[in-house]
Amino acid sequence: MRSPIQTSGKSKTNFTTAQIRSLLESSGRKEIEALRREAHWATLLHCGNRVYFRGIIEFSNICTCDCYYCGIRRSNKDVVRYQLAKAQILRQAKWCAERGFGSVVLQSGERRDARFVDFVTDVVRTVKKETRCSLLPDGLGITLCVGEQSREVYARFFEAGAHRYLLRIETASPRLFRRWHPPGQTYENRRRCLSHLRSIGYQVGTGVMIGAPWQTTADLAEDVAFFKEMDVDMIGMGPYIPHRAAPLARIDVDLPAMRLQRALSTIAVARLVLRDVNIAATTALQALSPLGRERGLDFGANVIMPQVTSPDCRKQYTLYDAKPCDNETDPGFQNALERRIRNLGREVGRNRWGDSPHAWIRQ
Ligand code: SAM
Repeated sequence: MRSPIQTSGKSKTNFTTAQIRSLLESSGRKEIEALRREAHWATLLHCGNRVYFRGIIEFSNICTCDCYYCGIRRSNKDVVRYQLAKAQILRQAKWCAERGFGSVVLQSGERRDARFVDFVTDVVRTVKKETRCSLLPDGLGITLCVGEQSREVYARFFEAGAHRYLLRIETASPRLFRRWHPPGQTYENRRRCLSHLRSIGYQVGTGVMIGAPWQTTADLAEDVAFFKEMDVDMIGMGPYIPHRAAPLARIDVDLPAMRLQRALSTIAVARLVLRDVNIAATTALQALSPLGRERGLDFGANVIMPQVTSPDCRKQYTLYDAKPCDNETDPGFQNALERRIRNLGREVGRNRWGDSPHAWIRQ
């Protein structure tokens, strides 16, 4: 079968799910290198060579969900739960703004009580107001990632100043979704939430876990087709990594190196299929290989999310075992990361929100 990849600069625009699957099945050094190269060109062509930093602030690990894969699930009694104060979040956000990051991601476990909603609304409003400066006249760009909420709550967060929202579908297969989540957490509601976010005016991001139990290449192909069908603006996806206290850890999965390659290939294929969306090189890539995020950039990602939560708290935000807890606010770490990005032939985008070209074109 002829490869569905075309020559650089004349990239295809429509891929069937079968073609997506065939790309995901690329194997062997030569085929994977061809995939990487095409994804790299597609990134430069549709998004430019800038890599945008988003400081990720994991402001609370308190969670009412009980996802079968996640280390901070409510049933895990070994987690020391924490919630950062507004002043701490603001301090970390200001650090990002001063460093030229342009945007932050505010992420936490999922809660829907009024106190939490008021807190998040207040934090978003304050971060927006307090980070306005000549270089960022509208303050930091804010991506929220606080799970499934009602339409009214999403609208409140939007009105407070969050303009991007990341809610992973986790898998586009309702069958797998049911196996990965307890009754009461439904695929249908996740989809409904994504539709609400879009109708309110957010730039919408979604994503999946790659290499998780029972997932096949055909499932992953459906995932990429789902991103396209949902017309998303951003993708945040990464390899599944077992957590010892989560039930799914008992199910065998591929070796880490295979899950890492599968995640890199999925990033590349998503870039070829969706072209002008933002794709994050996520922390989970780094958990499987120290330079995993840089490899993600090389396979078509254009956003990186340094962890700026203080290392003490970060240790308790253990979604999976061996989550990296480096001090990423250390100037030495930052300089080394920026050098590695430049070595990839890319440039760090500073003092801009770094919205995806797709979001601008759709507006
Ligand atoms: N509560 C918010 C939500 O559900 O969107 C944000 C926090 S949630 C912990 C963030 C993401 O972590 C999830 O969407 C999931 O994909 C990822 N995650 C959780 N456990 C994981 C694991 N064991 N391996 C890889 N990713 C995991």
